[in-house]
Amino acid sequence: MEKMQQIVGRARTAFNSGRSRPLEFRIQQLKALERMVQEKEKEILAALKADLNKCGPNAYSHEILGVLGELALTMEKLPSWAAPLPVKKNLLTMRDEAYIHYEPLGVVLVIGAWNYPFVLVMQPLIGAIAAGNAVVVKPSEVSENTARLLSELLPQYLDKELYPVVTGGVPETTELLTQRFDHILYTGNTAVGKIVMAAAAKHLTPVTLELGGKSPCYIDKDCDLAVACRRITWGKYMNCGQTCIAPDYILCHPSIQDKVVENIKETLKEFYGEDVKSSPDYERIVNQRHFKRVKSLLEGQKIAHGGETDEASCFIAPTILTDVSPESKVMEEEIFGPVLPIVTVKSVEEAIEFINGREKPLALYVFSNNKELIKRVISQTSSGGVTGNDVIMHFFLSTLPFGGVGHSGMGAYHGKHSFETFSHRRSCLIKDLRMESTNKMRYPPGSQKKVDWAKFFLLKRFNKARIGLFVLALLGVVAAVMIKVVN
Ligand code: NAD
Repeated sequence: MEKMQQIVGRARTAFNSGRSRPLEFRIQQLKALERMVQEKEKEILAALKADLNKCGPNAYSHEILGVLGELALTMEKLPSWAAPLPVKKNLLTMRDEAYIHYEPLGVVLVIGAWNYPFVLVMQPLIGAIAAGNAVVVKPSEVSENTARLLSELLPQYLDKELYPVVTGGVPETTELLTQRFDHILYTGNTAVGKIVMAAAAKHLTPVTLELGGKSPCYIDKDCDLAVACRRITWGKYMNCGQTCIAPDYILCHPSIQDKVVENIKETLKEFYGEDVKSSPDYERIVNQRHFKRVKSLLEGQKIAHGGETDEASCFIAPTILTDVSPESKVMEEEIFGPVLPIVTVKSVEEAIEFINGREKPLALYVFSNNKELIKRVISQTSSGGVTGNDVIMHFFLSTLPFGGVGHSGMGAYHGKHSFETFSHRRSCLIKDLRMESTNKMRYPPGSQKKVDWAKFFLLKRFNKARIGLFVLALLGVVAAVMIKVVN
């Protein structure tokens, strides 16, 4: 207990010193992070290889590129994001200063997951630093190599007291969660998300929960199946299916099921060759526990492709299951592995009903030549995010907030949304000590005349474009004089 208390205490003292607040300091820390990623690229790639068998090019494009992009964007835009944001005023506040000031929350806890162990820690960290916070970083113990590397590297490049790294598993995280934070961003499964939220509630700490779920993928009959299936194959089997926004299962009409299988099989050959096991582009399941869990989902299923497994190396071949019953085990929980069940539906209405009958997913995918149909599915369902005619890609557009809804999470981040997530939007109104007469209508004793004037000031809507600002200002002055007279 003592240890966590000390670490968080030191971070709080450092935050209270005020040194994380100036923009120059934040940008300097972000620059240091950028230097770290550039200088230690080899070490980072090696850790990702050791944890998940990610080959260099894949690890670079999945985990490093995004981080460098987020750093560049944040450093460029931070001055404009952090600038006071003026807001519209009413007649009563016309002469005052009214703006939103983005202020840091304090000490933030970032808890990462193992499946993209580098990016899932770095992206929230970038946002939290940019917003001026102290940050306690807790990488996942499951991806132990990346966790160890982060705990070695971050203190070499960043302010040690403001941004400490805590490593460890459930006992350490449980202990850490007894401490008071000003915000927690947790990435991981829904069950632990509830534990995090319960611990946060004890301190009234707000949370961003980046969770998972079963992300559906509907393929319309009116669709270019070859293109759709190539995109789906890419998103489903990357990182051996261990991607929070991977398409979890396919919904399609029975008449196209075989064609979908054929197209995915062909693409798999194109991507990974005849022998998937020896392809450098195909990752492994992270550990034996997850291997056994994913393997058990194949029991009793019709395997249209794949199904081979090797426990010693945690290998599970890219697998497709057909005619899957909605009641089967594979359709109960998020698969988080390279197993793609196809559930047939007779129409788009049935697909929508199927999706709405389950918890709100993190992502939703719809493939169709008909954009109207895509919009219809979007408007009649709910999910954290959507990509139409592709998978995963909404994650990479940093102007879109990334997050879940309902059981797939709460809150969002990426780009400016990260900055806002880790900031308090403070309402600031600065008045003048003159013009006291205008305030009389809110002071006792009350009268009908005062109410009438309050109504005039607060409820009257003027079309600014039509009457012009000058007239509006004049109206304000006349009103002020009138009030003086009335009182
Ligand atoms: P995990 O096992 O790495 O756990 C995540 C974190 O929670 C770790 O840091 C771990 O130490 C901590 N933790 C685990 N048990 C705990 C407990 N009892 N008390 C306190 N802390 C605890 O990762 P996981 O949960 O297996 O991750 C996979 C899940 O995460 C999937 O559901 C996936 O969809 C989801 N995910 C979501 C996103 C997203 O951005 N929304 C990204 C990646 C993964």
